[in-house]
Amino acid sequence: MADDRIHALPAVRRWLGNPVARALLRFVTRDDDCGNRLENAISYYLDPTCDTCWKCRLAGRMVGHTLHRSSTLFGVSEDAIRSGLRETVFLRGLENVLEGIARYGVTMPQIVNAPFMVVWDFTHRCNLRCAHCYQDAHKALPHELDTEEAKRLVEELADAGVVIIAFSGGEPLMRRDFFEVAVHAQKNGIYAALATNGTLITPEMAGRIRAAGIEYVEISIDGRDAASHDAVRGIPGHSTGP
Ligand code: SF4
Repeated sequence: MADDRIHALPAVRRWLGNPVARALLRFVTRDDDCGNRLENAISYYLDPTCDTCWKCRLAGRMVGHTLHRSSTLFGVSEDAIRSGLRETVFLRGLENVLEGIARYGVTMPQIVNAPFMVVWDFTHRCNLRCAHCYQDAHKALPHELDTEEAKRLVEELADAGVVIIAFSGGEPLMRRDFFEVAVHAQKNGIYAALATNGTLITPEMAGRIRAAGIEYVEISIDGRDAASHDAVRGIPGHSTGP
């Protein structure tokens, strides 16, 4: 299957990379009085009875044609595409790619309109002292963003088209406002992921992470047993958890 998809790329390049197709894509991805035309076009593609202007309906027909052709080329059913489009993250990812093609043409790898993922060092504070820490993380840096500044940054990243924020650090869970900012990211349509050293994850904290809608959590393990892991991580005893 992956091989088939690679073979489809030259066809995609011929089809979407030509100047006419890119001009049409620019039309589809341009915002106007109706707001985000691509989102309106996709709403129309998903529900042709929805109330929208003629430009958005026209854009919706172009999006429908593009997705129909893509489904044939890449061997993905149109039903799967339709159900993906109902997910905000998929939708934002598609917007990002289409805007990238409109602006830069079809490239390999594809240049997108905004970074797909921003890894955000949410704080410099950390409760470990890892031998390999490239940040020498310890205490918070002076002038770290406060909660309101962090939420504004989230909004700016959302406006720019970023799809995923991976909260990292330092140890992001050491900030009391972590959940407030992570939930704010999701309210703005951004997928929130968490890179943590895992030491603060009690059953209660795991429940909070789940309740906050964070679906991806990454925890590094640096040794084959507790002693070797702790030796690398610099604080004895933490591998058994809080
Ligand atoms: S857990 Fe990460 S941030 Fe903390 S000391 Fe280790 S490498 Fe540095």
